[in-house]
Parts: sequence; structure tokens; C-alpha cells
Amino acid sequence: MVYVGRTHSTRVHHEVGVVQRCPRCGDTPFALVQASGAGSSHSAYMIDEAGARRRAALDAYAALLEEAITARGLVPCPSCGARDPRMPARLRRTLGLKAASAVVIFAGIGAPGVYVGYPWFGGVFLGIGLLFAVALGVEHLLRQRRLRARLTFVPPPPELRTTEPVMEDPEDGLAVYLGWDVPTPASAAAPPPPSEPTAPPRPAGRQKRPPTLPTARQKALPFLMLAGAVTGAVLLGWGADVWLEGHQTIHVINPCVSSADVRIGDATLALAPGAMVTVTRPEGRHHVQVSLQNGHSYETDITLENSVGQRLGRSTAFIFNVLGAEPLLWEEIVYVDERVHRKNPRPRARILMGVDFHAIRDVEYLFTEPPDEVELHGGAQQAIRTMLSRIQEDPIDVIDVATEQGLLNPNQALPYLEGHILGGDRRPELATRYLAVCGDARQDARCQAFLQKAGLTQEP
Ligand SMILES: [Zn+2]
Repeated sequence: MVYVGRTHSTRVHHEVGVVQRCPRCGDTPFALVQASGAGSSHSAYMIDEAGARRRAALDAYAALLEEAITARGLVPCPSCGARDPRMPARLRRTLGLKAASAVVIFAGIGAPGVYVGYPWFGGVFLGIGLLFAVALGVEHLLRQRRLRARLTFVPPPPELRTTEPVMEDPEDGLAVYLGWDVPTPASAAAPPPPSEPTAPPRPAGRQKRPPTLPTARQKALPFLMLAGAVTGAVLLGWGADVWLEGHQTIHVINPCVSSADVRIGDATLALAPGAMVTVTRPEGRHHVQVSLQNGHSYETDITLENSVGQRLGRSTAFIFNVLGAEPLLWEEIVYVDERVHRKNPRPRARILMGVDFHAIRDVEYLFTEPPDEVELHGGAQQAIRTMLSRIQEDPIDVIDVATEQGLLNPNQALPYLEGHILGGDRRPELATRYLAVCGDARQDARCQAFLQKAGLTQEP
């Protein structure tokens, strides 16, 4: 979809007459201001072009009148020299809100950097925010000077008496004129009889609206909204991060033939053979106690650790499997665009065994089946996803298949088989596999010691 539209911009310059009663001496001097104003309006899909043009012109005239009133509010009374503090105070409030918003916006952009351990990032953005605030202040002073220079006090033109102000606030003693009626030579030569007044009488009860200059807060509104949005986004991200840091999921698996009690911190999990449960723990170090029904028990420490990016973006799989006796299959899945013939996509795969605790980064499909198809984005010809699954086969078959495929790593296979033996699997065939792997790895001494400790020396 293409968004079509046109922005109409209008800029108007006009001489504006401002009569403002002095709050001290009551004088009503006539000020002439060379004012200008800009307005813009957008016509979506080029619909209502004329309307957009008119809205732009109206905005421009509103800005023009506002500038004239602002200029008058900045200049002291020519008769007594009294300054009206209201306008400078209002402009300062707007400036204060804008400057504070600018600092908040840039500090907010920099805050995540400080949070993830890059304080210079936050410092740079805070500095930009402060510079921006200073620039707003300078602009504010220049604007005041410019406005004061555009105002001159002149004798009121006589035509003003018959001219309607375009804006009036009788309470405040303010009247604003945009042009004044110049009498035609005819009417000047023959003044109209009193029964026919040149100016129509004002309708009775007609209410003149007081001028509504935007308040300091309205002027600073876009800045305030942006500052609010940035603050909200930072707080939301920070809140999510803090929550996730306190709520990491651990998958606890008991691959042994004995049932097991696994105690992590103050949570005790009872696991039947082959069972998997999840438990939520905060990040950090945790003490784990494992007690198997066959009497074997051991203790270990695990550490749950994530960076902010891993916490918020790509989750880490934390898996505790008793005695390291569950092989896990980590593999890549390569999705290829069928219209493009790509040779040999070679997905990588690893079998993880013999270690009881895993923290595996960026697992997209954890103990779930990946989809048959995925969408390729941005002209990509292939996409690689990662998955992790349990291998719940008989350890004898696992060893046989892994040996056959050349995937067997003795450094992992030995603790894996020892885990099963300690976990209650006393089958002689398993001990035979164990001895074979020991022989291949030339670790006979270690194996003899283990078998003796496990009370299996007589059996094979
Ligand atoms: Zn005065």
C-alpha cells in the first residue's frame, strides 16, 4: 500500500494592531506588530484538497495572532514602563517543559545502555539531551528578542473606532485588529445621517470569546507525549527484564530407572522414571540435591545466567537431567526455498550426554516439533532453526547407534553410562557396553574403579 497525500503549508505575514491595557497605569497604547504565522494541513489520498488548504491558512492566521499578542506581552508599557510578568512566565513554563522532556527523552534512550553495562552509552545520550535543552533555551531568548523588535507603538489610526477587533478580551483589556476600515471618499464627504449608522449595531447579547492562547502545557504537548512514551517503553522493558530474571524455567528430567527426588533451592520435585517437570527459579546460583530411590544421592550447584538480550529476545534452555543420563539431541533444521536449487544444506547436529546441567542458548524449538514450513523473509533462500529434543531410547541402543554413526564421544558416553548404572540399571549388557567404551577410550583404570564402587565387579 502506498500512502498518498499532500501537505499544504501556508505562511502569512501581516501587520497586526494590538491594544492592551496596562495593568498599572491603565493606559491603552496602540502597538503595531509585524507578525507572521505558519500553518500546515494534510490531505490524505489527495481528498479534500481545498479543505486542507483552508485549514492550513486558518492555522497560519491563528499563529500570526498569537505571535502578535506574545510580542505585546513581552514589551513594557510605553507610558509608565511597567512590565507585565504573565507572558514571559508563560513562555518560560513552555520552555521548561520542553527542555525537561528533551532531557527525559534522551536519558530514556540511553538508559537501557546503562542497564546492560555500557554507562558511556547513557552518558552520551544524556549529554545530547542536555545540549538539546540548552539549544531550546537559546532559541527561546532569540525568539523573544525577535518578537520585541517587531513591535512599535504608534498613534492609533482614526479608523480604528469603526473597526471590529478580530479578537477581544474586555476583562483583560485586550483587542487585536487585523486591518482597519478606511473610509471611502464618498462616505467621508457625506457622513451618513445618524439614523443610518455605517457600522451595523452589534447584535444584543453577542458574546465575544476571550482569546484562547494555547497554554504552556499545550505548547509543549508533543514533547511531553514523546517523553512519556520513551519513559513508558524504558519502564516496560526494564520491568519485563526484572520479571524474567526472577522467573527462569528449568526443565528437570529423571532418565534413571529409579524414581528421584530433586531439590533445587526450596522446591522439591518428585520424578518418576522418565518424567520431566518444569520449575521456575530466579537467575543465579542454586544448590541441587538429588536422592534416588535405589539409595544413590549426590549434590551439585547450577548457575542460571542470561544477558539482557537473551532474557528479552532469545530464550535460553536450562535443563537438569539426573546423573547426566539423558542424551539430548541438538540439531539445526534448514528450510530451503524449493524454487531455488541449493546444494547440500548441511544442518549441524550434536548429541549431548553425560552432563547433568545444560544452559543452551537460542533454542527455537525446545522439546516441541518444529513446523514443516516456515516463511522466508527479505528474499532469503533458506532459514535455519534450532531444536532440542530428548532421546528416550534404551542406553544400550543409544550407544550402539551412536557408535555405528561415528557420533560417540567417549568423554560424554562414559559419564552417561555411569549415570544409568548409578541410577539403578544393573543389566549385564549395559556393563558390557560400558567396558567396551572404556577399552576404546583407554580408560580401563577409571572403569575398574567405578565398577568396584558400584559393586558390579563380579557381574560381567
Ligand atoms: Zn503603564
